[in-house]
Amino acid sequence: MEVIKKAWNLGLINTHIPQDCGGLGLGIFDACLVTEELAYGCTGVQTAIEANSLGQMPVIIAGNKEQQKKYLGRMMEEPLLCAYGVTEPGAGSDVAGIKTKAVKKGNEYIINGQKMWITNGGVANWYFVLARTSTDPKTPAGKAFTGFIVDANTPGVNPGRKEMNMGQRASDTRGITFEDVVVPAENVLGEEGIGFKIAMGAFDKTRPPVAAGAVGLAQRALDEATKYSMERKTMGKFICEHQAVSFILADMAMGVEIARLATQRSAWEIDQGRRNTYYASIAKAFAGDVANKCATDAVQVFGGNGFNSEYPVEKLMRDAKIYQIYEGTAQIQRLIIARELLAKAKQSM
Ligand SMILES: Cc1cc2nc3c(=O)[nH]c(=O)nc-3n(C[C@H](O)[C@H](O)[C@H](O)COP(=O)(O)OP(=O)(O)OC[C@H]3O[C@@H](n4cnc5c(N)ncnc54)[C@H](O)[C@@H]3O)c2cc1C
Repeated sequence: MEVIKKAWNLGLINTHIPQDCGGLGLGIFDACLVTEELAYGCTGVQTAIEANSLGQMPVIIAGNKEQQKKYLGRMMEEPLLCAYGVTEPGAGSDVAGIKTKAVKKGNEYIINGQKMWITNGGVANWYFVLARTSTDPKTPAGKAFTGFIVDANTPGVNPGRKEMNMGQRASDTRGITFEDVVVPAENVLGEEGIGFKIAMGAFDKTRPPVAAGAVGLAQRALDEATKYSMERKTMGKFICEHQAVSFILADMAMGVEIARLATQRSAWEIDQGRRNTYYASIAKAFAGDVANKCATDAVQVFGGNGFNSEYPVEKLMRDAKIYQIYEGTAQIQRLIIARELLAKAKQSM
């Protein structure tokens, strides 16, 4: 939280909150520049900050003025965090399979269910929660779910223990149970039934910064490996003078540069008001893979030292993995890319 407070004071968090709510109203391209630098330092901290943006995004894209002023405005007044609560123990990629239910009673909804893997789960001031409002199992996803803003201090909201993850341990990930949680109807985002669209729509604006986080990690891996290769000697030479090692660095550099360009393209498209789903998935999938390759390669360049936690690259390798999992796995991104590609191809036939 000390680091989050510093970021808040410097304006490195909440960059996209609209100006009429007291924010900077910056674009996604700007967010990517900030995110890459934060990730260069520590992707755990970057994920906590990015999850805050992810929690806010449904309110930015679908919230009414009152909701925005209340829930985004308060984040400009003090360093608070929020969270995006969609995934459940039984449904991550299969968002339409979530079981958390919201039942309308008068002017309120009663939410019951369980969320899992919620970043900022134990430190959030409020949550975006996706819940099923249709009782008919045949209702299509586009009409069956509703997005809610839920204050974290509402009775019945119970975050579980902080999960011990492989990497990014500065980030707080938890399961959360919702037991007869009463939410006023005024906290429905948009209207009942359009929650799925809102939850998925947020990703067009948050996947570019997640990709930027992966680029920041990859750049850090490249810089660490380059520096080390110019200090370590074997067989009478610095290891960077062995062509086999310098080619590893060259491959890493290619990945970093191209992943950054793909990320910036995806951010630029949405900032220009154009649909960027295709580019956002390409950037997220590619940068996630590059981060993993670069982190593994950096460990290789460090040799035995790379395997040890006294050196910086072991953390990078553990931290990198999540970029192929959260915010849509590497496989789900490829599903989206293929779907977008084929739809465009059909149109032009
Ligand atoms: C550290 C961390 C932080 C997270 N933060 C958040 C958060 O803040 N909010 C939130 O809502 N969620 C969050 N998540 C959840 C994350 O988005 C999901 O874990 C992710 O979407 C994958 O879902 P799953 O774990 O259920 O895996 P599954 O969906 O069960 O997938 C398992 C494997 O099957 C593959 N797969 C699944 N379906 C298909 C398919 N149709 N075609 C091809 N392959 C498929 C997947 O790619 C994966 O390899 C977080 C997760 C972690 C680990």
